[in-house]
Amino acid sequence: MAIRIYEFSKKSGISSKDVLDLLQKNGFDVTNHMTVLSDEMMAFLNTHAISKETPIKKNNYQKSPRVSFSARKNDGKKEEIVPVKKDLFRIPMTVAQFSDTADIPVSDVIVYLLKKGIAAPKNYVLSEKLVDDLATNFDIPISNPVVSTTSEADTSILASKKGTEKRAPIVVIVGHIDHGKTTLLDYIRKTRVAEKEKGGITQHLGAYEVLVDNDPIVFLDTPGHEAFSLIRVRGLKVADIAILVVAADDGVMPQTVESIKRIKAAEIPVIVALNKIDKATSAQIEATKRGLAQYDLLPEDWGGQIPVVPVSAKLGTGVSDLLSVIHLQSQIMDLLTDKKAPCKGFILESKMEKGRGDVATVICHQGTLRVGDYFICGKTQGKVTSLTSAQGAAVKEVLPSMPVLIAGFDELPEVGALFEVVSFEGYKEHKNRVIAHVGSLATMRTSVEGLAIIVRSDNGSSKEAIVGEIAKLSKKSFNPLHVVSAGIGMITENDIELARDTQAIIYGFNVKVDKQAALEAKKEGVVVKLYDIIYKLLEDLEVLAEQGKPVKKVSKKIGEAVVLKVFDIKGIGVVAGAQVKSGRFVKEGGKAVVYRGKYKVGEGAIKSLQRDKKTVKEVQTGFECAFMLDGFSDWIVDDRVECFIEVPAE
Ligand code: GDP
Repeated sequence: MAIRIYEFSKKSGISSKDVLDLLQKNGFDVTNHMTVLSDEMMAFLNTHAISKETPIKKNNYQKSPRVSFSARKNDGKKEEIVPVKKDLFRIPMTVAQFSDTADIPVSDVIVYLLKKGIAAPKNYVLSEKLVDDLATNFDIPISNPVVSTTSEADTSILASKKGTEKRAPIVVIVGHIDHGKTTLLDYIRKTRVAEKEKGGITQHLGAYEVLVDNDPIVFLDTPGHEAFSLIRVRGLKVADIAILVVAADDGVMPQTVESIKRIKAAEIPVIVALNKIDKATSAQIEATKRGLAQYDLLPEDWGGQIPVVPVSAKLGTGVSDLLSVIHLQSQIMDLLTDKKAPCKGFILESKMEKGRGDVATVICHQGTLRVGDYFICGKTQGKVTSLTSAQGAAVKEVLPSMPVLIAGFDELPEVGALFEVVSFEGYKEHKNRVIAHVGSLATMRTSVEGLAIIVRSDNGSSKEAIVGEIAKLSKKSFNPLHVVSAGIGMITENDIELARDTQAIIYGFNVKVDKQAALEAKKEGVVVKLYDIIYKLLEDLEVLAEQGKPVKKVSKKIGEAVVLKVFDIKGIGVVAGAQVKSGRFVKEGGKAVVYRGKYKVGEGAIKSLQRDKKTVKEVQTGFECAFMLDGFSDWIVDDRVECFIEVPAE
């Protein structure tokens, strides 16, 4: 059984990074902690690595999954890569090697090549192109010998390697709906997070921390609603590692693909949690891996570098393996920070809280945050008046990567806003700038095209979601919707004034209207709509967005009559005396078409309709009536008249 570096590390007590370094320095081509140790490497490590225990024997690891990297010595010359079953690399190889690697009879390979006009014996060397061609033909997954998933470039705000102290990795869980993200997060939380500290109430911070081998790992715990996808994007921007949850019984689905794209864009390593193995068949598991390989996520047991950990989030199977792999991945990444640097981070969630006012969860990626610090944050600023841990404990300071609830904001910050500790002068300067900016906005007296909307919501996540949905709706609706302002917290007089000046409607989600603002709204005729269900709000917005849209109409025949008599009444005109034979005749919106035999002889709107000399709105089947048309009076007895009205097209 093969042993991976991380397993060796665990057993020997030497960190994966040190094992990697040692091997690399000694000319072994190893790339990460998932790399399988060859016999040569094992021999080397057993003699050179200072192990805490006795030398590692391969058969200590019967339980380790079959993995199969081919190792190469890094001595300049490429040594032959010995193919292992199923690990097909895009490199030149002989027909025999291909056949062995791909597990295809040599004769089949030779026959295929013959059909292409190539007479190839067993030791014929296939070019890369031919290997590729054969792989496609025999439906064998193929990869380049080295697949790199992590980029050298550090684009994430958290990926900074400055500093000397270790910090916890921040992990985000992504994947297709119903594949088990929430279940996995819940399982880890339930089994790994201490629920309460003495006297404290567990806080929902949008992130929680678990300990793996005494090292903390922070999981971003974002809400599951589709409308919150924006935050997931942000989650990725600020995370160090992504866990892609793929249900093995369902395979790679559209949101899986979307997640893969985002992970690639964020340039962070990915670990696949192959979920629902309790109900997936082995054929389904293989198909899912194939699906992943198609999107460049080549599982490590197929020769790639993507750890794919089979789990059942429901039963908990494999979850501790997953945590180990995350732990090891983070060790390899060597996430460092400077606790003494100015504190910087981002807002994960923000909300109004009774008794504490505006609060927000912050995760810092450098520096130490302390009670009493002044800070600036997007369009707001403040002074830290209290820090509360996820366990509900009041803390005096917090280190990088740890989610913490901060009170002391002048106004609620936006989700995703950068958070930065500054001097008192920096705080004051920022405050003045923000006030000046808001002032200039207020004097703009904007005239807004389309329908103006003001959004006030209870927290940053829901606000982002609503604004995002409005933007989406606006693109496809009849009326463009325009968000004049979006904020968090109670609806105040300021909102009413802005709504008055911009002719906006105010949409409040889980918020109340300030007493004074309610009076003002009444006085100014400002419409304020309040909701506590996000779908309802969105539905109403949809109706609003379609208001005024011209409805396509069609003519519908609703009745038929036959002219029995024609009256020429002086001073009034020619009146048709008729009997309704079917349906009905109506005055309002009614139009008549007159036929004589097969021919249409005239038409016009019904301008008067009478029964028993009384004006009526409509006449039903069987009754006699008299009517006049606009633009037609040339009646003769037996004319057939059809009545039409306009109805909206289906
Ligand atoms: P999300 O939309 O990705 O957050 O998916 P959920 O966590 O809500 O899971 C969707 C459904 O799959 C729920 O009914 C879960 O109980 C179920 N589920 C999640 N994980 C597993 C698993 O490992 N095995 C089985 N059998 N069902 C699971």
